[in-house]
Amino acid sequence: MTKVAIDGPAGAGKSTISKKIAKELGYVYIDTGAMYRTVGLKACREGIDTLDTKGVISLLDSLDIDIVASSGEQKIMLDGEDVSSLIRTPEISMAASNVSKIPEVRQALLKIQRSLANDKDVVMDGRDVATCILPDAEIKIFLTASVDARAKRRYDELIASGKEVNFDDVKNEMIQRDHNDSTREVSPLKIDKDATVIDTSDLSLEDSINKITEHVRNNLK
Ligand code: C5P
Repeated sequence: MTKVAIDGPAGAGKSTISKKIAKELGYVYIDTGAMYRTVGLKACREGIDTLDTKGVISLLDSLDIDIVASSGEQKIMLDGEDVSSLIRTPEISMAASNVSKIPEVRQALLKIQRSLANDKDVVMDGRDVATCILPDAEIKIFLTASVDARAKRRYDELIASGKEVNFDDVKNEMIQRDHNDSTREVSPLKIDKDATVIDTSDLSLEDSINKITEHVRNNLK
């Protein structure tokens, strides 16, 4: 079974690119960020502040997250409801980043992530896939881009999906999230020693996908 790990900061294009690559290779795509977002959504729905560690931990026992994964696509269910698009808001991005600092949350999600990847060919994206979730992954990519390029992409995405957002807010939230994700104590965002770093700042989406697909194909045994 082959595992492809794709890590990197927010807005580097990980999910779009990972989905495409999974589809091309016929692998299952697993978006680990969606799981942190879903825990964040659950906390918000239950009126729990995502900075309230004890409150968030109290949700874990009854956490009912299900991932319906297939080639190139993933649906995420919370308590039986498809929340895949509800989790894509700036508020839930910050909520995800807050809950992701809590070791108990990481531990609970790690179990789900590893079991989803078991006995399958997968492309998994996140922040700690290569360093923690799948340390034996055959292919490890760290996808990055300048903060301006990343903020511009995320802004365009949000506008295209009909959300009313301001560019500076999107950029500031991204800087805050990068800071949170790379300075937290447990499994911070960092480049694995075996990862290949790919910077997509000056690449179109199509060129990024081609470059990464080529890298993956060249490195598959
Ligand atoms: O990838 P995405 O932006 O959807 O992730 C949302 C948040 O979930 C990240 O900012 C990060 O705090 C957290 N996350 C994480 N570990 C992962 C994936 C995401 O801590 N493997």
